[in-house]
Amino acid sequence: MTLDEVLVKEISSIVGEGNCSTRIADLYTYGFDSSIHHHTPDIVVRPRTAAEISELVKLASREGIAVVPRGGGTGLCGAAVPINGGMVMDLTRMNTIKEVRVNDLYCVAEAGVVYDRLNEALAPHKFFFPPTPGSGEACTIGGMVATNASGMRAVKYGATRDYVLGLEVVLADGSMIHVGTNTIKNSSGYQLERLFVGSEGTLGIITEVILKISPKAKKAAMVLAAFDRLEDAGKCVSNVISVPLVPSATELMDDICIRAVNKAVGAGLPDVQAICMIEVDGEPEIVAKELKVVEEVARRSGASSVQVSDDRKQMARWTSARKSVMSALSRLGDQLVSVSLADDMAVPISRIPEAVVAFHRIAEENQVIVGTYGHAADGNLHTKMLLDPCSEDSWKRGEKAVGQIFDAVISLGGTVTGEHGVGISKAPYMMRERPDAWQTMLTIKMAMDPKGILNPGKLMQWKGGIIRDLRYPCRDLCSK
Ligand SMILES: Cc1cc2nc3c(=O)[nH]c(=O)nc-3n(C[C@H](O)[C@H](O)[C@H](O)COP(=O)(O)OP(=O)(O)OC[C@H]3O[C@@H](n4cnc5c(N)ncnc54)[C@H](O)[C@@H]3O)c2cc1C
Repeated sequence: MTLDEVLVKEISSIVGEGNCSTRIADLYTYGFDSSIHHHTPDIVVRPRTAAEISELVKLASREGIAVVPRGGGTGLCGAAVPINGGMVMDLTRMNTIKEVRVNDLYCVAEAGVVYDRLNEALAPHKFFFPPTPGSGEACTIGGMVATNASGMRAVKYGATRDYVLGLEVVLADGSMIHVGTNTIKNSSGYQLERLFVGSEGTLGIITEVILKISPKAKKAAMVLAAFDRLEDAGKCVSNVISVPLVPSATELMDDICIRAVNKAVGAGLPDVQAICMIEVDGEPEIVAKELKVVEEVARRSGASSVQVSDDRKQMARWTSARKSVMSALSRLGDQLVSVSLADDMAVPISRIPEAVVAFHRIAEENQVIVGTYGHAADGNLHTKMLLDPCSEDSWKRGEKAVGQIFDAVISLGGTVTGEHGVGISKAPYMMRERPDAWQTMLTIKMAMDPKGILNPGKLMQWKGGIIRDLRYPCRDLCSK
């Protein structure tokens, strides 16, 4: 659908000429997020206020134009890719932190505020918004709510959903509603703010968020344990939990990820089958005690070496090595790129050893390289596949492996996505995981967006396979 000039003029009169574009370069750029997918929209808008968003959505509803909200574009599954064209709505100009109310344990931020910027504003108060996604430098609060983002601290501090007290949302007809409250407790009817958590732009445009905030721990320290068997690293994670001890972060990396970061950034990690980085935080005396316990559990779980540190610089070096896994994997082999497919499954914590072994077996059977890493103590595991983007055969083997990985995850009682969301790349598998729930999701979608303009064709509306609308030059290889 190409928008006619009159319509483009009307749109630009709402947001201002400089905040509306149909230039090919802009359309091309806004066709990406950080997934394997790409599709060009018809227009890009950059509203500054909720009132402008309301006007834009009213117009889109009247004209039947698809609207795809977009935060930082860091999503890894194509959720912000405008698969049916239409209007991409970039929310990053909505970047004001409106209130920080430490005494009331909440803050209010516009949807386009970047995660790290919010925490910089909270730091002088010794508070923070804990989910800690690896993309914190670029992802937005609205995008985090829309995908229920989380990260390495979820095991102790929870996911975004645990912090959303209230929202301002523009609905599919352009009307604006306020859901939830600015109180820590709320039993006032349906918890509608939760409905928008994980909705991936399909139910409304989130314009403002009231977030619960947490005090920062006084001290943190880390154990880096090396293992000669991947299963032992998996067992170490559940052994720590069953002490009982809840670490503030636990990161697991297999030999492929270790090799990749050692090669790409000279991380100097032990050259073993797997490592676990386990962080504890809290009052200094408690941290010292828990550190000893974790060290002892790691040795008992079969660690071949254990390093301990409470030095901020050393801990930052370890964390940074872990954060560089995704990009480092793309530099491991010639012609291979690391793709986000089957990339953030979650299983019950005690099933992690079985899951990592299954992933390696599936990789071998399908002759694809799969790096496994993840937050582990919350059951969340990432796999990245290394595929040749110009080879149809490579994509086909990858797709087969994805299906088998998700089957394994579902049979272990897990979910196909623990934190990145569904988008395009996981849509068919979400329906496989939730055969009795997706119809209800569809009923809600139809009721809230009867004209189907909000991020259409996603989640349970997805039809077909996942290896299509690729971002690579060979985009049509497997799209039949
Ligand atoms: C290097 C890297 C590391 C990552 N690490 C993590 C991690 O540790 N944990 C994690 O959870 N994720 C991680 N991600 C994935 C991604 O950062 C998260 O999903 C993040 O929440 C997306 O936020 P965004 O602002 O970039 O949203 P986008 O990618 O722009 O959009 C994501 C979805 O949210 C919708 N959306 C965006 N804003 C709004 C809004 N205001 N109202 C309604 N819908 C909206 C979009 O339509 C889309 O469906 C990582 C990504 C990268 C590239």
